[in-house]
Amino acid sequence: MLLRLQKYDITITYVPGRDMLLADTLSRAYLQDSIKSQTELETECVNMVDYVPVSTESMDRIRAGTRTDHTLQTLIKTIQKGWPACKKDVPVEITQFQSLQDELSTQDGLVFKGERVVIPQALQADITQRIHSTHIGTEGCLRRARDCVYWHGMNDHIKKYIATCDICRSVDAKQQKETLKPHEPTTRPWTKVGTDLFNFEGRDYLITVDYYSNFWEIDYLPDTKSSTVIRKLKAHFARQGIPNIVFSDNRPQYSSTEFANFSRKWEFQHHTSSPGYPQSNGKAESAVKTAKRLMKKAKLAGQDPYLALLDHRNTPTQGLTTSPAQRLLSRRTRTLLPIGDRLLQPKVTDNKVALMKNRERQTKYYNRMAKDMDTLNPGDLVRVQPFEPHTLWTKARVCNTLGNRSYDVELDNGRVLRRNRRHLRRAGEVKKDMSVHLQPEGQDITVPTQNKENTQNSTTRSGRVVQQPGYLKDYVCN
Ligand SMILES: [Zn+2]
Repeated sequence: MLLRLQKYDITITYVPGRDMLLADTLSRAYLQDSIKSQTELETECVNMVDYVPVSTESMDRIRAGTRTDHTLQTLIKTIQKGWPACKKDVPVEITQFQSLQDELSTQDGLVFKGERVVIPQALQADITQRIHSTHIGTEGCLRRARDCVYWHGMNDHIKKYIATCDICRSVDAKQQKETLKPHEPTTRPWTKVGTDLFNFEGRDYLITVDYYSNFWEIDYLPDTKSSTVIRKLKAHFARQGIPNIVFSDNRPQYSSTEFANFSRKWEFQHHTSSPGYPQSNGKAESAVKTAKRLMKKAKLAGQDPYLALLDHRNTPTQGLTTSPAQRLLSRRTRTLLPIGDRLLQPKVTDNKVALMKNRERQTKYYNRMAKDMDTLNPGDLVRVQPFEPHTLWTKARVCNTLGNRSYDVELDNGRVLRRNRRHLRRAGEVKKDMSVHLQPEGQDITVPTQNKENTQNSTTRSGRVVQQPGYLKDYVCN
């Protein structure tokens, strides 16, 4: 009954009992001669073709294909004759279908597996292409296919097809992060300093963070010229000393000749992160996050941001017993909290072991969700992740391995780029569920609007899958 009702768009209206007319009289007074034979009344023929969401033209093509497909013709004969009782009597070309014999049926020149049409070999490529015609992701395509068609090895066939789809591969999602390669640990304050620019409510700021103590300085930038950034850094270096290493990303303020001159004259090494891979400048990045949060909160609470900064610097760091101020300055600095004179006395603390432990903990935490990718070799074909939004993953060939997960890749137009492994995907690699979901349109294989598995199962907060009891399987529960 459900199958028969599928083709109607039903509106249910409530009619009160008093308005319902009794059909009793008519049912008792039927015409004796127009009654159908008993068998005709009881056997309701269900035409499978009507219930498969495939258009008539496609069905005709599949029917024609089935007619010329030797395997399917043998299969039809076997279904009609009945499967041999003994396994070795099954014709060799249809052994792959043997385990499915209970689900197979034939009607109107077609073979069905349950409600799915079995596709003849000659049409498999065409159907695959149709299923993926709107470039829906792998899982989506498989769900669509499993709704209406079947052939032996269909899942693999579709996965492979999508893995090599030019359009999908050029709009792939980002790759999973790789495990953390921590910076060499620093053994004393202000030997290594990270720096970065950020914008808060339309104004530019410079952050300068010490790798050892995690103490950061924030400067308002009236403009973002390289010389302005250098002047602010000089002020910090004049106060805390010149660090051995300054770490930054590749933005113009840091890649300028002026900055190169500054690093030469002030005798510090300047290291930059690979383009588009600011994670290696993570210290400055995370300081920026903290700074922004702190400024936002101070603004919302109508408080002095400098007092917030002072408190932050005197708060012991998670996993450590010391605050950033204690690690950089070897003393607590006075805040608005009442504090004894003794506690404000300078005292050198040894943080090496605690810092190391903290680092290990953070690395472990980060690596839980990370997975290392395999090494690429010169000559390997890859796709390069775009850095600008709304651009495509471009094809390239690895031409040089630079170590530390960095590679030189050559694009089709001859341009050579330096990229981190994370931004290179092997050509033909496919992510489990690609986030490309275009609206299907004008196709002849329709998708049911709701996926049963999705609506019936849900997940608890702990991750346990809640399954709907079996007796509710015919209902959609909201
Ligand atoms: Zn595609």
